[in-house]
Amino acid sequence: MTINTEQRQQQRHRERQQKVKEAVDAKVAAATEERGVLMVLTGNGKGKSTAGFGTVARAVGHGKQAAVVQFIKGNWDCGERKLLEAHGVPFEVMATGFTWETQDREADTAAALKAWEAAERWLADPAIDLVLLDELTYMVSYHYLELERVLSALRQRPLHQHVIITGRNCHRQLIELADTVSELECVKHAFEAGVKAQPGFDF
Ligand code: ATP
Ligand code: MG
Repeated sequence: MTINTEQRQQQRHRERQQKVKEAVDAKVAAATEERGVLMVLTGNGKGKSTAGFGTVARAVGHGKQAAVVQFIKGNWDCGERKLLEAHGVPFEVMATGFTWETQDREADTAAALKAWEAAERWLADPAIDLVLLDELTYMVSYHYLELERVLSALRQRPLHQHVIITGRNCHRQLIELADTVSELECVKHAFEAGVKAQPGFDF
């Protein structure tokens, strides 16, 4: 390659990058609103709860007040809970274990409602900056919680409050209400190759 060709390529690269920069700068300049974001993390891939708790850790790192409600994780020895409770993050954990392990619909509904009441209190509290509603989607899809009641608490929450909802098969109306929605796709998962869920990595 002659020096001239190389210089021309570099020049073209600089021009392209300059255009990208201008477009990004314009978008950054246009995004001036500061308010609470409703984020949904759904799909079949691993990483939904992990990302939710990662955001809680960010909030705590900035001195913000976060709160966590875990639907359907009652019997799990959750590493995030051990860490975050010690840093002032209150947890409400549904009393039952995985829903598909229980057959008692009435008891599950009562447990879901009790956990949801804690969620409603935090969703109405301006002192709470971030609420993580881990595995909430199942409560709606199994009809343990009324969709309208959930939507209404989310709509009426303090303006600055962020909310994260995780779980598969998220209801369409929750996705419509959300500002940020990510769907995790399962490309592969170690469990399929016989690797068991391990503390410190999977929970
Ligand atoms: P994580 O808590 O690891 O971020 P998740 O919240 O995306 O996972 P859940 O559906 O809540 O996924 O799954 C809870 C448990 O099931 C976790 O231990 C996780 O490792 C495991 N898991 C997640 N996705 C899959 C999958 N596609 N196949 C098998 N197991 C999975
Ligand atoms: Mg999860």
